[in-house]
Amino acid sequence: MKHDRELPKRRLIPVRIADWQEVYEDFPAEKVRVQGGRCMDCGIPFCHTGCPLGNLIPEWNDLVYRDRWEAAADRLHATNNFPEFTGRLCPAPCEAACVLGINEPAVAIKQIEVEISDRAWEDGYVRPVLVEKKTGERVAVVGSGPAGLAAAQQLTRAGHDVTVFERADRIGGLLRYGIPEFKMEKRHLDRRIAQMEAEGTQFQTNANVGENVPVGDLEQFDAVVLAGGATAWRDLPVPGRELQGVYQAMEYLPWGNRVQQGDIDEAPISADGKRVVIIGGGDTGADCLGTSIRQGAAEVHQFEILPRPPDERVESMPWPTYPMIYRVSSAHEEGGERVYAVNTECFLGDDEGNLRALRAHKVEQTTVDGRMTFERIEGTDFELPCELVLLAMGFVGPQQPGLLEQLGVDINERGNVSRDDRFRTNLPNVFVCGDMGRGQSLIVWAIAEGRSCAAAVDELLMGETLLPAPITPETIPMR
Ligand SMILES: Cc1cc2nc3c(=O)[nH]c(=O)nc-3n(C[C@H](O)[C@H](O)[C@H](O)COP(=O)(O)OP(=O)(O)OC[C@H]3O[C@@H](n4cnc5c(N)ncnc54)[C@H](O)[C@@H]3O)c2cc1C
Ligand code: SF4
Repeated sequence: MKHDRELPKRRLIPVRIADWQEVYEDFPAEKVRVQGGRCMDCGIPFCHTGCPLGNLIPEWNDLVYRDRWEAAADRLHATNNFPEFTGRLCPAPCEAACVLGINEPAVAIKQIEVEISDRAWEDGYVRPVLVEKKTGERVAVVGSGPAGLAAAQQLTRAGHDVTVFERADRIGGLLRYGIPEFKMEKRHLDRRIAQMEAEGTQFQTNANVGENVPVGDLEQFDAVVLAGGATAWRDLPVPGRELQGVYQAMEYLPWGNRVQQGDIDEAPISADGKRVVIIGGGDTGADCLGTSIRQGAAEVHQFEILPRPPDERVESMPWPTYPMIYRVSSAHEEGGERVYAVNTECFLGDDEGNLRALRAHKVEQTTVDGRMTFERIEGTDFELPCELVLLAMGFVGPQQPGLLEQLGVDINERGNVSRDDRFRTNLPNVFVCGDMGRGQSLIVWAIAEGRSCAAAVDELLMGETLLPAPITPETIPMR
């Protein structure tokens, strides 16, 4: 009651867009302690339900308030393998469900989480957890995003010999190639992977199962966890799609990551000096925006087909659900113009097949037979000159050629890998977790899936398990 919600300041825009480092300034420990003190230790902490991991939020808020940082780190890691990722990248559905949030700004849960985690690393509380007894069981994990990493860490700690296969040249999935440095510096990922290696998890990079690693190689393992993500992107098949200058977000963003990793000096697809249009108003679009600005784009527009969301909760999005309200990410602060209720009709090129503009019109959202549709508003057509278009319209599911087709796993009506209530596919001892089973989702859900899937694998191998399972495959966010 005595203190307001406070978050660290974002670094000055001209300074932060001149580098790629994270955008936030340091937040002194005393301020974190004060923020922890805002937690009311509710009888029924709804934040637990908001967080798919079931993070013990009031416990660690109180421990921080009492200056017991090591104990707070212990309680945080009890439910979350990677709080340094979620503390930076999670949209914090816990805060949307915070009881204080009913009539006051919610407790700064996500900020407290990242501060506990960073301090734990700095003060050396995060050490490799070594098992005393090995089981002799071997598990293959295919894919090294947050789901695969969480499953691998849980299973290694349960005593199994775990090998993670990753087709990219580095470990991390979208945390590595996708999410820009200014949202999470990759050093956080590297030190967590070093901890996992010290615990005994084996990593094989450049190992594309179904291509240069035959799927038959998986037969030597006692169980297999598929965690290959939902990497098949949604396209925009309009006239001019083939023009030079129209790319998918995920054809563009990883180059920015590679420049920051020091692999290359310049991104082969860059916004430098170009007029950019990002199609898709979500977080991937915002990542394209922040990247374009840092690369020196001449101007940026971000298109969204939906109307501008309301500034505050409306009746259809009551507490404690996660509300679809207007948010200003750090990238939005940095520049660019957001255009709502707009549909792209075609791309226009020059004589050499290079993109020179796009044509679009405004739309009105309507509902027909319970389905959302968009009707063109006559007389609103316009042309926008641009040299780079980035499609950030989401993902339709996992990529099926290669691994999935060769294994012969069943695919459900949503295009994801089918599974039963214990994360098992139709194949014996083959499990699936993360975006590959759930469809495009969030890091916090991927970690929760990895943990729960690991419990199911351990139970299969050992006949029983002590590993926690925070969610089932059917668990969905509060709506
Ligand atoms: C640009 C972008 C930004 C995002 N930002 C956020 C954010 O800020 N916050 C948030 O919560 N969520 C964010 N998300 C969503 C989040 O990143 C995903 O939900 C999450 O990474 C899914 O984890 P995963 O482990 O299931 O899959 P992924 O992270 O996709 O990892 C799958 C891995 O499997 C590998 N793989 C696939 N097939 C094979 C094979 N046959 N052999 C070997 N390896 C294989 C892939 O190379 C990849 O490395 C973002 C997504 C994108 C695209
Ligand atoms: S992981 Fe996300 S939902 Fe869970 S406590 Fe952290 S910020 Fe909140």
